[in-house]
Amino acid sequence: MDRIVEEPVENKSEARILQLLREQGESSIAELSRISGLGKATASRAIQSLRMRGLVEDTGDEFRRLASGRPGRAVRIRPDVGLYLGISLSAGGVTAVVADAAKRVVAWERQQADSLDGTVPRATSLADFAERMLERAGCDRKRLYGVGVSVAGPVDPRTGEVGNSVIIPQWTGSRPHEDLSAHFGKPVLLDNDANCSALAELLWGELNCNTTAVFLRLDQGIGGAIVHNGEVLHGRTGRAGDYGHVTYDPNGPECRCGGYGCFERYLSISSVESDLSATLAEIQVRTRSGDAAALEIVRHKGQILGSLAAVVSRTVDPDRILIGGGLLALGPGLLDAANERLHAINRTASKIETASAATVLEDGSLHDEPALGAIGLLIRQERSIA
Ligand SMILES: [Zn+2]
Repeated sequence: MDRIVEEPVENKSEARILQLLREQGESSIAELSRISGLGKATASRAIQSLRMRGLVEDTGDEFRRLASGRPGRAVRIRPDVGLYLGISLSAGGVTAVVADAAKRVVAWERQQADSLDGTVPRATSLADFAERMLERAGCDRKRLYGVGVSVAGPVDPRTGEVGNSVIIPQWTGSRPHEDLSAHFGKPVLLDNDANCSALAELLWGELNCNTTAVFLRLDQGIGGAIVHNGEVLHGRTGRAGDYGHVTYDPNGPECRCGGYGCFERYLSISSVESDLSATLAEIQVRTRSGDAAALEIVRHKGQILGSLAAVVSRTVDPDRILIGGGLLALGPGLLDAANERLHAINRTASKIETASAATVLEDGSLHDEPALGAIGLLIRQERSIA
């Protein structure tokens, strides 16, 4: 896939500091020195040089990461240097998010699937949706660094080709980044929605380079991503962490992957809806009003999720197990039952928690983490040359 072309920063220390600022948003010289391993004088010289070139500015605020540390002056990349556009496509609809060069979300919009005429949009209509949002938000598309795209299906990390996806079958075998790149005239990077969500947790949530984590996305499908040393593990075909297709019950129903009784058959939104013959929104209302049958189904689903988390804990032994996606609308009973089952199986496992990155968006909607993470693809792609 393409790479973002930007004015080259040849000095290695400056390039390293600039990349850390892309990822951190705001920081301070002391913090940048600590994370980069560069001396404070070197970090300070790099910031001074980047400031002179108009790439970095002081925010005017204090920056303090550790409660006990002395605050320093906060610095960031100048927000007007460029814009990132992230788009996510799932069965639930399309989301577009724009962030400025300082990693702050400046615009965000979602189009629900029911307003998409039941059809999965082609790359061009996705681009039109994003264009309209950019216009409404007053964002000049000329300032885009590039476009990140999240899709609810496997993506080959080498070619960007979308693998077999039941959620967006029309995109199977396509390379949507090529159409989008032709449309925008900018580099387009593409990844799977669970991988993008995990990246959102690294850049806007509570994960960092020292955390080993597994992210499970419970939505129309079940996606998973493994994070280690600050990177999302892709594996050979981009399917690392695809826990939805681990077997829960070998005597269970046939799954779209060809297996039987996969976790996805029990934990997808549609499986819950068919168990209660109701929509997710209706089930949400019923659980809130204390409906016993609905609460029992939620508890049962939570127990199955706990069994899945036990597989996660035994295979990766992560510091954090994070959950995102639309199924969380079922309420706290889901994770309570899941944690109870998980710790009955593996007493020392980390607790299952709700993902937090999407709280930077206006309504904190967990639907929209993948679009945020798609921006992360753009922020991160400079990493290898930093
Ligand atoms: Zn399966």
